[in-house]
Amino acid sequence: MQNITASVGQGGKNHSADVKVVQTLLKAKGSDPGKIDGVCGAKTVAAIKKFQSTFLKNPDGLIDPGKTTWLHLSGQRVLTPVKPKPLTPIAWSGDSSQWSQEKKLQSMKPELAAKVRAIVASLGQRGFQPKVFYGWRSIEVQARLFAEGKSKVRFSFHNGQKLDGTPNSYAADIVDSRYGWSSQAQSSGFWTALGEEARKRGMVWGGDWAGFRDWAHVQLVQNGELARVKAESGL
Ligand SMILES: [Zn+2]
Repeated sequence: MQNITASVGQGGKNHSADVKVVQTLLKAKGSDPGKIDGVCGAKTVAAIKKFQSTFLKNPDGLIDPGKTTWLHLSGQRVLTPVKPKPLTPIAWSGDSSQWSQEKKLQSMKPELAAKVRAIVASLGQRGFQPKVFYGWRSIEVQARLFAEGKSKVRFSFHNGQKLDGTPNSYAADIVDSRYGWSSQAQSSGFWTALGEEARKRGMVWGGDWAGFRDWAHVQLVQNGELARVKAESGL
């Protein structure tokens, strides 16, 4: 098996024979060091870093005999690809109305999630089949609903978020999965029951609003607090 006698790469000893060994192995691993000439230049260092990036968080461009990078390069250690942490905005992207009930609950401010869980349990005991339609939704989805006339505001309590962009909704929309927004939601008594359960927990229910009645909507705080929630959300 090939070996190196001293360090190769950025700040390394870079003995010509060692550099050649490293360049040959890098090329074989798909990390092109340029000409295989035994000279450790910028291309070779870049190739070392590129190779290291598949298993190291902070590639340093240096290979020491017997150490991690050499073990990977010489095939003495099998590559286990670094799994990049999923970015939060990606985890929370997409159409939030399609998320699971649990994910919708997790998109709410914890205090809201606790109350919504209690409301859903109570309504279930009363013979309804409640489900959360929206917890949090993005400002982009809000803009669409506004354009479609389905919401009266460009920023709603559903858009509450933390400064890092993760959801922190102050509002939830709850429907009976059998009725949705149809007239049966009214005739079955579902909306009335939802309003009762929300008020019982000190919440604001959209069905109480004069003019634009937002039947499915429950929120944690009064409408007057919208500007504060928007500022808190960094929006
Ligand atoms: Zn709503």
